Amino acid sequence: MLFLLVATVSVLRSFMKTKDLETFVFNGKNYSLLSRTFQDAFFSLGLLTFRYYPEEKTMIISDKFAETYQVAKVYPNMPYSFAGAVIAEEERQSFYELIEKLEKGEKKVSNTFESVSGDCFRVTIVPCEWNNERKPIVALGFVENIEKQNRSEKLFMALAKDYGSIYYIDVEKGVLFPYRISDDIKREYGEAIRENSNYEHLINCYIDKTVIDAEKDEMRKICSYKFIEECFKEKDIILHDYRGIRDGKTIYCRLKIAKLQNSEKFSDFMIAFSDTTKAKIFEVERLAYVDPVTEGNNYNYFKKQLSETNKPGYFVSMDIHQFKIVNQICGVKVGDRVLKEIWNTIVENLKEQDFAARVNADHFVVFAPTSPREEIESKVGKVTSDLSELSKKMRWPRLHPYFGIAKWVPGQNIEEVYSYTTFAKHSVKDEKNVNFQFYSVEESDKVIEQKKMEDNFYDAISGNCFEIWYQPKVSPVCGRIVGAEALVRWRREDGMLVPPGMFIPVFERDGLIRILDEYIFDRVCHFIKARTKKNLPVLPVSVNLSRASICYEGIVEQYDKIVQDVGINPKYVPIEITETAAVSNSDIKEISNEFCRRGFVLCMDDFGTGYSSISLLNSLPFANIKLDKSLIDTIGEEKGLKSIKHIIALSKDLGMTITAEGVEHESQKNSLMDLKCDNIQGFFYSPPVPEKEFVNLL
Ligand code: C2E
Ligand code: MG
Ligand code: MG
Repeated sequence: MLFLLVATVSVLRSFMKTKDLETFVFNGKNYSLLSRTFQDAFFSLGLLTFRYYPEEKTMIISDKFAETYQVAKVYPNMPYSFAGAVIAEEERQSFYELIEKLEKGEKKVSNTFESVSGDCFRVTIVPCEWNNERKPIVALGFVENIEKQNRSEKLFMALAKDYGSIYYIDVEKGVLFPYRISDDIKREYGEAIRENSNYEHLINCYIDKTVIDAEKDEMRKICSYKFIEECFKEKDIILHDYRGIRDGKTIYCRLKIAKLQNSEKFSDFMIAFSDTTKAKIFEVERLAYVDPVTEGNNYNYFKKQLSETNKPGYFVSMDIHQFKIVNQICGVKVGDRVLKEIWNTIVENLKEQDFAARVNADHFVVFAPTSPREEIESKVGKVTSDLSELSKKMRWPRLHPYFGIAKWVPGQNIEEVYSYTTFAKHSVKDEKNVNFQFYSVEESDKVIEQKKMEDNFYDAISGNCFEIWYQPKVSPVCGRIVGAEALVRWRREDGMLVPPGMFIPVFERDGLIRILDEYIFDRVCHFIKARTKKNLPVLPVSVNLSRASICYEGIVEQYDKIVQDVGINPKYVPIEITETAAVSNSDIKEISNEFCRRGFVLCMDDFGTGYSSISLLNSLPFANIKLDKSLIDTIGEEKGLKSIKHIIALSKDLGMTITAEGVEHESQKNSLMDLKCDNIQGFFYSPPVPEKEFVNLL
């Protein structure tokens, strides 16, 4: 621009000499203006002209000026008249100041203004005649529309923040002017950019040297004039991300090409480059470590943090009881919101060095270094009450969390510790009062063992690993075997025998017991059948029916079908149901009646262990009652013997026979015999024995 001005001023000088001025009279005074030819010449340079007469406070503007801005030609009462007509209100003051400076004798004044119609232009005024006091009497003014320059300045400002290298491309000359060159580019290309400013040459050099091979062609296309020209027909900005190699490493870069003029014609543009590697890494990290639902940390973040932690502490995992209800009732969208609020609640309860994450679904984890156990407990309590408050306030289904907690020491396997917390958490699930559990190794070993059992169950059934042992029931009066109880054992691969107490409770929990009970029942039926077939003496062998098996629909029909299929009389396979099952199952009356109706004999097992109910004895059709070992063990005590006496008497009154279990000593046998106990099952006579041995006893 400065060059333009210098040129203009020299044109002006020569023109002054030629006196090629148009003069006209205004208010009786002669004023002059540049001739139309000169006005056109300046206009083609992007300049509009005017003359200013400071003494008269009058401005005469060129015809081109008046046409361009659609304003009057002559302005007396300067600077107010011109400012009022042409310059935007908020900028008028600085125009007055400009004129004031000129009148005070400055050699050149210049400033940019916005016009009333919103254009941006620069006014430059140069005095060209002076009075004796060296005060200007005539000045020549130029107005240049600086939209183009302004836009590039604005663009530069906009680019400056994010782009390391910015260049101005003069399309006509095919040259590139650097506005700014990044340190990396300077280091790599040195002065080359300034020495040879040919745009196409430079851009090709850059592409060859920096852009990765796979993206070179694409980049060449995007930087070509042809492509840019095409794009500029539709948009002002071209953005392109590409990868390069710098110092042997992949870098991520962004290219921005911006149009400078709003014209149809393809003209100069700016091109800027930025190294977005850091941002890219940041973004990749963000995506890798942020949970999309809570916008907090995800489990990857948690693991990363934990692996970098050098302090021991507590690893806590948390679930919400029945969270699926929230989704079912409120919908998934609200469900997500709830999860976010749960996350916020957790975060509010974190101490400075704690960190947390959402793993998935409603599973969250927290790590609290070096907190004492009590602190963790109170933290867990606080989160519980906060969540309860929250759900109340929001009218959501109650958010009841439960926690599993394990100790963590630096260097430990994270997934392993996480599995400990999950394990501890699951052992909470059933408990109503406490909602957290610390992990213990013994507990865990037990569960692992149980899991193994569950996994091996079907193989064990098909591999005949469940053995039936028989424990004789003996009449104490004559000492003869009158029956037996079938008791299951599990023969492990290594030959070890596992007692039922180790696996029955496990299978009762997961429902496999129904299959096992039925299997034992079926085998005992076949045992009876085999003996009948061989015309050997047959005695009833009772089988146990777990309280978990009773709950299954059609159990009676199923057992009935088995005896029918095998072809034996159900009286040979009495069914032992524990007293507790009888007390707790409301359908027991119906089921037991149905068993009896089909000819089965029922024994009430383990009488005396649970909430012994004599009235139950009355209302249910049990033919036999088995006194539990714990009762038998009280025989030595006065009160014990008395109560056994009453139970036996009452049972007999109700028409039941009595079997005493767990009789180990002769004295016990004698006492029971005195009380007219019908049968005795206990180590005193025989422990449970394998089938072969039992058969020999008969
Ligand atoms: P239960 O039905 O009350 O069986 C009697 C248990 O007392 C047997 O233990 C037996 O070995 C033990 N016992 C008998 N006499 C004595 C004695 O004099 N001293 C001592 N210390 N113990 C004696 P076992 O075989 O370990 O069975 C334990 C429980 O496992 C059984 O108690 C029964 O509830 C359950 N069970 C066994 N087999 C099955 C089955 O096939 N199905 C179901 N559902 N439960 C079974
Ligand atoms: Mg039993
Ligand atoms: Mg028993």
